[in-house]
Amino acid sequence: MADLPGAGARPGPRSRALFEAAKALMPGGVNSPVRAFGAVGGTPPILARGAGARVWDVDGAEYIDYLASWGPLILGHADPDVKWALVEALERGWTYGAPTEAEGEMARLVTAAFPSIEMVRFVSSGTEATMSALRLARACTGRTAILKFAGCYHGHVDALLVQAGSGLATFGLPGTAGVPAAVAADTLVVPYGDAAALAEVLRLHGERLAAVIIEPVAANMGVVTPPEGYLQQLRDLCTASGTLLIFDEVITGFRVAYGGAQERFGIRADITCLGKIVGGGLPVGAYGGSRAIMERVAPSGDVYQAGTLSGNPLAMAAGAATLRALAVPGVYDGLEAMTAPFAAGVVEAARRHGRSVRVNRFGSMLTVFFTDADVRDYASAQRADTAAYARFFHALLDRGVYFPPAQFETAFVSLAHRPDDIERTLAVIEEAFAN
Ligand SMILES: *Cc1c(COP(=O)(O)O)cnc(C)c1O
Repeated sequence: MADLPGAGARPGPRSRALFEAAKALMPGGVNSPVRAFGAVGGTPPILARGAGARVWDVDGAEYIDYLASWGPLILGHADPDVKWALVEALERGWTYGAPTEAEGEMARLVTAAFPSIEMVRFVSSGTEATMSALRLARACTGRTAILKFAGCYHGHVDALLVQAGSGLATFGLPGTAGVPAAVAADTLVVPYGDAAALAEVLRLHGERLAAVIIEPVAANMGVVTPPEGYLQQLRDLCTASGTLLIFDEVITGFRVAYGGAQERFGIRADITCLGKIVGGGLPVGAYGGSRAIMERVAPSGDVYQAGTLSGNPLAMAAGAATLRALAVPGVYDGLEAMTAPFAAGVVEAARRHGRSVRVNRFGSMLTVFFTDADVRDYASAQRADTAAYARFFHALLDRGVYFPPAQFETAFVSLAHRPDDIERTLAVIEEAFAN
């Protein structure tokens, strides 16, 4: 371990100076809040380059990356196939605002991957996908209320930025300034994974719920897997009350299996939201469902939704190249074979050093929680020691391992990670636990 740089070394002076300057020009110095390291303190390295499983900052420091741009980069940074698809598309011009062949090709790939998606609409972010899915669900059902789960994140849609209430379903209060109480009032919230609470809220309110939206494996309170049978219960309750079930697979789509969580759990959503991997690292979202539901979207139907850059040729090229690479047999087994021993190694290292740690993992997504209690929902995630996570995060960063800068996030293993990357990461984690 003699080659590992000491704690406190990163980031270097150029990153610090650039970030200081950025703070005067952009709120918090960033364009998306969690990048500013508010949850862990310190200064984010300003990144300059990525290749495979690694990124480099402007001071030349190298990191093994588990951020994967928050999920999209399942093939790693600057994947050659994606790069050449982009170059080839770029040569022909990068936007027309008119139909292209690439959109049809992507629609074919997505509908083939998800049996529940007969038709799809591409947008430019996950937020747009969930926002549009809610509008569509409300139009299809003629109902207004929606149900979400505490700790699930669905982008920064007004109606979905609602904090968890306590106990059984509570009518939401906005979790941010700028959301009118009237908007939040139509959002009900229940604890994730609580079968009794779910049954009760559907019994009381099912008939007026347009949709239930869920991350079928939660990844925005850290990784939390639903209890056995929970998603089937949810599917049955939604069917019984005529409520549309929206699976937000922005993270899990093409991540936990090619066909997402729906493939893993054998459940069909009414509307599926995609993002992140489906764009191969370019700004893409998508929502889709049965022909009957999707025919309601304009111009076929009466639900307006549009986008100047939707289905953008570069984004479609990056997405299609990524999906083609993921369609190769054995890809997800390979990710599993890389990540399972990684998670086991973290647990083992924690045990050796007497650290109270829970590692939640699903496929190639994992979160290290500093707690000795199981993390099953948002409340238990919030009880974990986030200060201990912050120290862990910085111990890793200083030693060249870039984990997500908040405990309520997911570390992603990509197809570019090699066994020796994992081995080196485990050595660094061992050192972090020893300190
Ligand atoms: C990231 C994310 C979103 C939002 O996607 P953006 O592209 O950031 O707007 C929505 N839902 C889930 C589950 C996400 O992880």
